[in-house]
Amino acid sequence: MSTTAFKCPCCGAELIFSSEAQKMSCEYCGTELDVEAVSELSRNEESTAEMNWSAPAETTVDIEGDICTYTCNSCGAEITGDRSLGATTCPYCDSPFVVNDKFDGMLKPDFVIPFKVGKDKAVEKFKEFCGKRPLLPGNFMSSHRIESVQGMYVPYWLFDCGTDAHFRFRGERVSHWTEGSYDVTRTDHFLLIRDGSMQFDHVPVDGTSKLEKEITEAVEPFDTNGAESFNPAYLSGYLADKYDVSAEESRIRADERIKESVEYAFRQTTDSFVGVVTQNSNIRISDGQIKYALMPMWLMTAKYNGKLYTFAMNGQTGRFVGELPISWARFWAFFAGISAVSGIVLSIILKMLGV
Ligand SMILES: [Zn+2]
Ligand SMILES: [Zn+2]
Repeated sequence: MSTTAFKCPCCGAELIFSSEAQKMSCEYCGTELDVEAVSELSRNEESTAEMNWSAPAETTVDIEGDICTYTCNSCGAEITGDRSLGATTCPYCDSPFVVNDKFDGMLKPDFVIPFKVGKDKAVEKFKEFCGKRPLLPGNFMSSHRIESVQGMYVPYWLFDCGTDAHFRFRGERVSHWTEGSYDVTRTDHFLLIRDGSMQFDHVPVDGTSKLEKEITEAVEPFDTNGAESFNPAYLSGYLADKYDVSAEESRIRADERIKESVEYAFRQTTDSFVGVVTQNSNIRISDGQIKYALMPMWLMTAKYNGKLYTFAMNGQTGRFVGELPISWARFWAFFAGISAVSGIVLSIILKMLGV
């Protein structure tokens, strides 16, 4: 006899084989299950994920024209740009740039998404963003730095692949009714098996360590239908960074995003059940290709009380993200205002009650 104890899916007690019924049954709650159903439910396979990617092409390009490299001695960024831009501060950390005449060429991007939204819009969005935050320190907005927003192409890796997946979920359906003086609850347990495939086009993962994921993922999505093949002309008037996080390192995040999306999509097919848990999953990637792309972003950083705050606007869609410092003096004033208001409301209610 096998030493594996089969647990009742309803109450967790051990199931016993009943020779009369030719079924597995639970002495505690009376559940009966077919032997095959029990072995199917208790099959506990490891979840697997086979994610194979072929490396991106490594073609470098030299850019003609008056191109220079701006180097930041503070964060180490080496950013390519038009010399005529005369950029003076690093968009990542707000430290002064050093101009370096030498340009060593860059990895040729497979795609560029050109800027669609201009600087005016970025300045306007920033002001609007600040305006909605009553707790902002008074001197934050007054600085001239709002105008120092810079347009930069941020390096991204784009992941394309097909996926084949197999999922096993467990789910329930519960019904209630009354029989005489009893309230009856019936729980049906299901093993839900799902097979399918999904295609992913251009799953983005940024290739820079200089911006937090909170920024680079929050400004998404980029519409890659608007992507163009690389042409150095797109860079004129903007800065362009080159990756410092390799495709290989970015894969980890791409795998995560793809796995989460596949599981999410498969789970959608189980929404007529309750208490759904994933028992195991097998995901396999086919034809995984990695592409290199430059995405347009308006960036602004500001140091306030020794902390660096970063704001970004998607240069294609105008989506704006960022965090702002809070003035505690204003916070307490604001809070006191709210309590005063609730105090008034409370006394009005008490008056209405005639207290
Ligand atoms: Zn039971
Ligand atoms: Zn910097």
